[in-house]
Amino acid sequence: MKLYIKKCKTCSNIIPLELKVRNRAILRHNYGNNVNVQCPTCSSTHDYSVYDFFAKSDSNSTVGGGVVGGLVGLLGGPIGVGIGLLIGGAIGNENDSTDQKKVKYFNSSY
Ligand SMILES: [Zn+2]
Repeated sequence: MKLYIKKCKTCSNIIPLELKVRNRAILRHNYGNNVNVQCPTCSSTHDYSVYDFFAKSDSNSTVGGGVVGGLVGLLGGPIGVGIGLLIGGAIGNENDSTDQKKVKYFNSSY
């Protein structure tokens, strides 16, 4: 999961953030109702409300899991590759759905 500001108040670009917080309550607790953020595109600095923050999944672990699984499977021949891909893909999917849950949790927080 990665956090963003919806829209820069000067150039309207989405601002990616390095912050790692689980929900807006923690954000508010740590930074207050308005968070001062500098836009990396136009370098302007503005105060953003916690509701300007949103979360997006940055996970593409299904692919990663499948690759890892496939590599593991290579040890066991072609059938092993297939099984490895299935297992790896399943692990990746699990990570994805957890990330999706985190994203939903953040975006529905107040
Ligand atoms: Zn900007």
